[in-house]
Amino acid sequence: MTGFVLDLGTLRPVMDRVEVESPAADIGLTQPEWREQVRGSFVVERSGDRVSVRGTVLSRVHLECVRCLREFDLPLEAPMVLYAERTGSTSREEQEQLERDDYMLFHDGRRLDLRETVRELMLLELPITPVCREDCPGLCPKCGAELSLGPCGCSP
Ligand SMILES: [Zn+2]
Ligand SMILES: [Zn+2]
Repeated sequence: MTGFVLDLGTLRPVMDRVEVESPAADIGLTQPEWREQVRGSFVVERSGDRVSVRGTVLSRVHLECVRCLREFDLPLEAPMVLYAERTGSTSREEQEQLERDDYMLFHDGRRLDLRETVRELMLLELPITPVCREDCPGLCPKCGAELSLGPCGCSP
């Protein structure tokens, strides 16, 4: 098993459980906050050429709090459900249409590439305004002191 490219030939025929992981960069997450492995835990079911994949993808990003500017690690976890059909089972046009819809992929009978889907799921989990904790008081606007360490003495 090479990361998030599932080798269908090595899976058990009807239902199998797979645990995969890969460096974030290998699925296109190359920004510096992605320092850790991305892991996936899936149940893969097959019926003829139709493959369904259900499970969870996990990682951890290194972010900077927008309020206090302190760096922190944030665990990410996203559920994943997708279906894949074999290439050639539909017209090319129909296939492109289906691929634009979420959670529909195509495989060639040997390999099923989950990298793009996993990358998108992980990016969706990234907060737009990361905070180290919900009630982070941030920095004093006057002296710049970190208010989580206590009051700074400036008049409120
Ligand atoms: Zn903070
Ligand atoms: Zn202050």
